[in-house]
Amino acid sequence: MAEVRNICFSYGKKHVLQNLNLSVQNGECLVLAGPNGSGKSTALSIIAGAVKPSSGEVIADGRIGYVPQGNALFEDASVKDNLKFFAGLAGCTVPQKLCFGVERYAAQKVSALSGGMKKQVSIACALLAEPDIILFDEPCDSLDIGYRDEFIELVQGLKSRGKTIIYVGHDPLEFAAFYDKLLFLGSDPPRLFSRAELSGSSEHLEDFCINYKNLFK
Ligand code: ADP
Ligand code: MG
Repeated sequence: MAEVRNICFSYGKKHVLQNLNLSVQNGECLVLAGPNGSGKSTALSIIAGAVKPSSGEVIADGRIGYVPQGNALFEDASVKDNLKFFAGLAGCTVPQKLCFGVERYAAQKVSALSGGMKKQVSIACALLAEPDIILFDEPCDSLDIGYRDEFIELVQGLKSRGKTIIYVGHDPLEFAAFYDKLLFLGSDPPRLFSRAELSGSSEHLEDFCINYKNLFK
């Protein structure tokens, strides 16, 4: 479970988040959506504990795994050493089999990987310690379409194991299959939508895409 209560945050004089509230239960996925610059990444970095809010509180019931929007890896180190480092931080070992089969890149330097390969490694690092709460910040932005189904299955698997997911993404086709509710940060105050409101009872993907797009108008 993760909860955010009345979070405010400013960069200098620029107010980015004003009294943000959200809550996500175990086994549930909340999508944070909104136009560029609406504060999605800032909100995730606050929930992850990487940035301190000006006021408000975060209640996180368990260990957090964070896939940031930028590259979280040590570029000059090998994939294997990155995995060992993040496993060491979390007090766990590196399993032989990892998501997306990233173990096959083990010997390569991160700097030699493509953007999508780095994202796969970043996701694998975030999931090493079986975190209870997983924060995904645009995880699919550089993943090629061939990995989309595997990614969706990965998130569905996490949900079925009771994990709490907060997901930032732009393309509704990424999260249509696994989201439970969506908080739109592009309005003041942010608006919360249930899956039933956006996808409708007939769950037509096309309807969901239209409803989602209309939020941005
Ligand atoms: P999103 O992820 O929704 O695109 P961000 O959380 O990255 O938005 O950014 C929210 C706002 O904060 C934007 O207006 C952005 O320009 C500003 N911002 C982000 N990071 C910084 C920073 N390090 N210094 C100053 N302003 C920033
Ligand atoms: Mg962002």
